[in-house]
Amino acid sequence: MSKKVYIETEDCIGCENCVELCPEIFGFDAQDSVAFVIMEEGGSEECIEEAIEDCPVECILWKDE
Ligand code: SF4
Repeated sequence: MSKKVYIETEDCIGCENCVELCPEIFGFDAQDSVAFVIMEEGGSEECIEEAIEDCPVECILWKDE
């Protein structure tokens, strides 16, 4: 089973790094100025890892399952 990614939205500062890095995986809610996950699983793990490293508040996480 592939890993699932999620965003702790309450910590997101809306920098859009993740959205720019992996637009097929992360979307941006302009109304609330937070990112959200479009594709929870099946996306490029490499890209997600990069987004995790680049998130300034470390609010992108893998789900433990
Ligand atoms: Fe939010 Fe982190 Fe994505 Fe920036 S990189 S928009 S803080 S989830």
